[in-house]
This record gives sequence, structure tokens and C-alpha cells, in this order.
Amino acid sequence: MIKLYNTLSRKKEIFKPIKDKKVGMYTCGPTVYDYDHLGHAWTYTQADLLRRMLEYNGYKIKQVLNITDVGHLTDDSDSGEDKMEKSAKEKKKNVFEIADYYIKIYLENRKKLNLEEPEIICRATDHIKEMIDLIKILIKKGYAYETEDGIYFEVKKFPFYGKLSGNTLKKLKAGARIEINPYKKSPFDFALWKLTPKGVKRQMEWDSPWGKGFPGWHIECSAMSMKYLGKTFDIHTGGEDNIFPHHESEIAQSEAATGKKFVNYWFHPRFLKINGQKMSKSLKNFLTLSDIEKEGFSAIDLRYLFLTSHYKSPFNFTFKKLKNAQISLNKIYENFSLLKEGKGEIDKKYKKEFLNAINDDLNMPKAISVLWKLIKDKKIKEENKRATLIDFDKVLGLNIEKIEKEIIPPLIEDLAYQREKLRKEKKWEEADKLRKEIEKNGYRIDDTKKGPIIKKIK
Ligand SMILES: [Zn+2]
Repeated sequence: MIKLYNTLSRKKEIFKPIKDKKVGMYTCGPTVYDYDHLGHAWTYTQADLLRRMLEYNGYKIKQVLNITDVGHLTDDSDSGEDKMEKSAKEKKKNVFEIADYYIKIYLENRKKLNLEEPEIICRATDHIKEMIDLIKILIKKGYAYETEDGIYFEVKKFPFYGKLSGNTLKKLKAGARIEINPYKKSPFDFALWKLTPKGVKRQMEWDSPWGKGFPGWHIECSAMSMKYLGKTFDIHTGGEDNIFPHHESEIAQSEAATGKKFVNYWFHPRFLKINGQKMSKSLKNFLTLSDIEKEGFSAIDLRYLFLTSHYKSPFNFTFKKLKNAQISLNKIYENFSLLKEGKGEIDKKYKKEFLNAINDDLNMPKAISVLWKLIKDKKIKEENKRATLIDFDKVLGLNIEKIEKEIIPPLIEDLAYQREKLRKEKKWEEADKLRKEIEKNGYRIDDTKKGPIIKKIK
């Protein structure tokens, strides 16, 4: 039995997919106008853990990941500049080059974090026709209207608006500083299609029945998710900041168009903070994967750190925590490399404990504590311990098996050999001199029960 917190019902629910052993899952992808940062890494790693947990339980996943490469305005209220075109202008590049560049980096970062590849990765710009078709249906059914500057969704026509975020029209009206947009019937209506203003030439624009223009941000996710997963599908993931207005608007558009429930389970990890502060442009505290790599950490160190926290708790990133995560992860690798190879069996008791943890709304901190309990358990046969750790890693994704043995230069090997000889002769002082010599050369020696292990100092 799998329990999952559902943003829609605001409680943990028993997970039941639409088709018995198949799960359709849509993941809101990045807007590719800038480098992806640790906040993205956190959110996408949680979506990866969710799919790996379901796979571990025997489900077959069809995950769709979209790439927003058009039409996301700097201001959520449908005004301001297009983030893609703005970035292109600043960098004096073509907007398509900007998109390709950041997509490439984002996909490389996914590989580094060991995120499983989604079955479908789709770009908004390849689905303009599907978006136009959906907008046509909304106009025909009376949910959308045409104005001089574009097509808008009329929120008051959809009575369930607010069911995901709690931002009902009534609440919005009570709390808002209302900005008047002369083209909208209500300030809470949102854009489905924006027309290119007269006299302006955009780099990205397409013909439509209403004139040249580009899609609003929300419509792409409704069009692409329903194209690949059907009118109703199992899980939709995204960052906490996507709940409103993005996902609320996706529900409104999709359910208005089809008359059916759009998504059964909404999965939203909490925010990632840096040193207790929200990441923001003004604080200039955006950290990327390459920033942490420069400090001597790997993406898998970061992945391990993420595993020590629950996705429904805000995650506070610090370098100190990352250092501790790196040390723990190295200990896991070390313990694993010392285990006897051979035909082992997965330990049933530990597997059950592990499964109970991950199936309880992805309780990864608990799962990690089961892993450590297993590592320290001296009663389990080494071969079985090894087999069980490899099995757990299907979900954890820490590359426990793949970790490369470091190549140690002959000089260091020789010094280590001489040192070991001296130690056996109980010549401690001389042995210690050699240890210092090894450290001076950038290596260190860990004396384990199975003998000394040489490692490069990071
Ligand atoms: Zn989306």
C-alpha cells in the first residue's frame, strides 16, 4: 500500500492508479532562459524518487517532462516581457539558441543527479497546434473570450477555480491590489494566447485564427499533458511555487475543455532555501550544480543530502550539510567496497522495512536510516548485505555499484606499502612520517579492519 500526500485534498491518500500497474505522470519542466539552480535540482530529484518508488513497487511509469521555451512573461499577471526574448536580447543571441543552450545544460544536470530519463521530453514550441486547438474548444464552450490583445480564460465561468490552491475568486477579490488591465473582463482572467503588438517583431511568434502571437504560459502544460497521458491522468508534479497560478489555471483550462477530472494526485515538494533564505535574484544567492562542483562536491553528494530530508519540509541548503553528506556517502561506498562479492540474496526483513518507509509518502530519511542499520548489522551475511544495498539503490540512485575505484599513482602506492611495513614492525614514528608525506601529495590513508585504503583528498 502506497500513501501519498495530495495537494488537492490536503491529506495523505492511498495511491490508486487509473490502470492497474501503469502510472501516467506529468512533470512541469524548467523555463529555459537561464541556468537551472539547486531549487530545480531539489524538485526534480523528488519527482525522480517518486517515480523510482513506484517502479520499485512494480508500476510501469510513463513520465512526461515539458520544457517551457516560449511565452513565459516576467509578470504572472500576463504583462511584462517574455523571459525568453528578454534573455536573448541581454545575451545578444537568437532566442532559439538561448533555449537550446540551457536545455542542454539542464539535461546534463539531470544525468549528473542520476535522474531517470522521462519517457517523453517535449518542448512547448513543438506543440503550438495542440494549444491552438485547445483554445478553440474553450472559446466554443464559452470559457474564453477574444480581445484586442489576445484570448483570455474567464475565471468566473469555472466554478471550481481555487480548489487546488485555495485561491477562489472570492478570496482573490478580497485580498488583491487590483491591477486594471483594459483588455480583461476581470483582473483574475488569464491569457491563453497573446497577440504580437502592432509594430513589434518578435523572434518567436506563430499564426493563429486570431492573428500572429504566442501562447500564454499555462496552456502548454494542459495541451501537452493531455496529448501524451489522456484527459485524466494519475500524477502531476511541480514546485510549490507552481501551485498558483500555474497549476490552478491548468485545472481550469483542462476541466473546462473536457468536462472531466484533470489529475488525481498533485505532488509538490516544498521550497529550497539557501542558508535560511529564499533564493532570489535580488539576494544573488542562486547556486547551480557547477557552483557546488567548484567547491569539490558532486551532484551525487547533493542527491544524498536531499535524501536526508522529507519533501514536504522546506529544505535548507548549507555547505556544511553538504560536506557532512559527502562524508557519509563516502562511508557508504567504503563499506560497500569492502563487502564480499558473490551470489547474495536480498534480505527480506530489511527490504520490508525499506519499503514501508518509502511507501509512506516517500519517507526517505527513514529509508536512509534503514540503509545505515543494514550497513552496521554484523549478523547479515556480507553477500546478502551487498545484494540488499544494490536493491535499495534502485530507489536511492546513489550509484553504489558503479562508483569507480580511484587510480592511485605508483609513488603513493609505494609510500603506503612502506608505511604498512613500518607499522607491522611497530615503527610508529617513521610510519607517521610517511603518512604525512602521502598527505602532502594530496592523498590520505584510512586504516580499516581490512587494511589501509588510499583516497584522494577532495
Ligand atoms: Zn507546467
